[in-house]
Amino acid sequence: MNHNNKDNEGISKSGERVAVITGSSRGIGRAIALNFAKSKEYSSIVINSRRIDEAELVVQEIKKNTSCDSIAIPGDVSQEKDCIRLIDETVGKFQRLDVLVNNAGIQKDIPLTETTLQDWYNIISVDLTGPFICSREAVKQMKVQNDPRGGCIINISSVHQIIPKPHYVPYATSKGGIEMMTKTMALELATDNIRVNIVAPGAIDTDMNINLRTNVEERENTLRKIPMGRIGKDEEVANVVEFLASNKASYITGSTVIVDGGMTLYPSFALDYDHNSNHIFPKGSM
Ligand code: NAD
Repeated sequence: MNHNNKDNEGISKSGERVAVITGSSRGIGRAIALNFAKSKEYSSIVINSRRIDEAELVVQEIKKNTSCDSIAIPGDVSQEKDCIRLIDETVGKFQRLDVLVNNAGIQKDIPLTETTLQDWYNIISVDLTGPFICSREAVKQMKVQNDPRGGCIINISSVHQIIPKPHYVPYATSKGGIEMMTKTMALELATDNIRVNIVAPGAIDTDMNINLRTNVEERENTLRKIPMGRIGKDEEVANVVEFLASNKASYITGSTVIVDGGMTLYPSFALDYDHNSNHIFPKGSM
């Protein structure tokens, strides 16, 4: 579909940008939406999730606490027609689209041999195909706008675009795929002034990671992999997304910013500090 908007010259002033965040009814997506709304860079934020009632709660939160407008557009990003409608309705309502954050994601803990083709399709279609369709549709509008500030797409990937994750083959495959999709789109769209980047979180305290709240052993196991020794907060991811979407990141495209408390730094090579001798030893050597 071509989101041709003849009445709009497409030049945005500061504070007049429009953003769509998929899967923004809770967790990292909600934190991104609230950060954008508070930043005063945006006039309107579109909240998406499969259920309108959940999305509406975030819309109300934005309207109550900020001067930003917001609407809920329900839709399942694994469905092409829903992705097309999400972008169409956004442009229909606000006459522009400046920033798309592909955040919606699902995962499932299941051994390879028990992973059905349906499991594979379910996860790949939300985590990889959805970002592809939403980006394709958003770019049609961003090109029409021809705004000097450019368009911006941010994909929320994971440290598992780099670190293999046993029992999560479709999830890790999707996140690995997002990396090459991002780089390829960034290269194709660079001359259109449309930047495409990734934010890759480590372990963040959201409903997706409910086990880290309820299962002490799993929490301890995860903490051992994080040099900074704590689980991250959703707003710590949202802050980076806000930066990448802003003009301060105007020369960054095709990049991944990892937000993981050091999880990807080979934590087993970390140093232990002996307070008695004031010496630093390789971890595990004491
Ligand atoms: P979450 O489960 O708390 O929230 C996911 C959001 O996506 C919800 O709003 C949900 O309604 C929505 N959603 C799910 N399926 C959808 C669909 N088919 N269509 C539209 N919306 C849908 O998860 P989260 O932790 O906030 O994760 C957000 C993103 O961050 C995901 O892409 C996830 O892979 C990534 N991530 C999270 C962590 C973490 O530790 N929480 C780590 C790495 C990457």
